Amino acid sequence: MVVIEGVNKHFGDLHVLRDINLTVGKGEVVVILGPSGSGKSTLCRAINRLETVESGTIAVDGNPLPEEGKPLAQLRADVGMVFQSFNLFAHKTIRDNVTLGPIKVRKKSKDEANALADRLLERVGVAEQAEKFPAQLSGGQQQRVAIARSLAMGPKVMLFDEPTSALDPEMVNEVLDVMVGLAKEGMTMIVVTHEMGFARKAADRVVFMADGQVVEVATPDEFFTNPRSDRAKDFLGKIL
Ligand code: ATP
Ligand code: MG
Repeated sequence: MVVIEGVNKHFGDLHVLRDINLTVGKGEVVVILGPSGSGKSTLCRAINRLETVESGTIAVDGNPLPEEGKPLAQLRADVGMVFQSFNLFAHKTIRDNVTLGPIKVRKKSKDEANALADRLLERVGVAEQAEKFPAQLSGGQQQRVAIARSLAMGPKVMLFDEPTSALDPEMVNEVLDVMVGLAKEGMTMIVVTHEMGFARKAADRVVFMADGQVVEVATPDEFFTNPRSDRAKDFLGKIL
């Protein structure tokens, strides 16, 4: 579903992605772990072209990312992204946040888009909030709306970059539960997170990054019980 081959990127002198190779299969859940500054966010952002890369290729569902200057609408619809900050449209209702993309990009009718929004808001557990504005919701609720909004575009893969890091602790699980549900339903997911419980429960594979490189790829079991590299041992020693 996502094939990354030989990807390199610099920010000035900083070699932030070093010859990254990674293939994520359809329905697979990959959790990316690694110390701060290792390139996890940059890699995610490269997959939906929020960052360009200097060399190598990235393909989503068999389609290489559009060349620079070409339209990105299809890619952005195929690749959903949920960030640490919820990024909802503050002046639109929850329902309108979810229906905007389907109406504008997917050319759905207002009725169709509303029905889809109702279904998705129900699924993430915020159906009662549909007529409210983002600021009236808790962080956990807003992040679940952000997930529903991404799903409304019918993505082939979902990227999550530390989706629970900005939440109060008591709201983390309500968001992780939605993500676990998505994983169980077969969504292809790439998730950057420090939530090791989620990695153990939902990940098919763990990718450990350090200094812009993929250092280790393993099942969660292998990675947490028997990390091979010193970098990974050091990282786990600090967080577990
Ligand atoms: P964290 O766990 O803190 O989120 P990360 O693994 O997601 O870290 P990135 O955000 O990908 O790391 O950043 C990798 C490196 O690139 C860092 O050293 C960061 O300071 C640098 N960097 C990221 N974005 C830019 C930018 N737009 N311009 C210059 N340097 C950047
Ligand atoms: Mg990051």
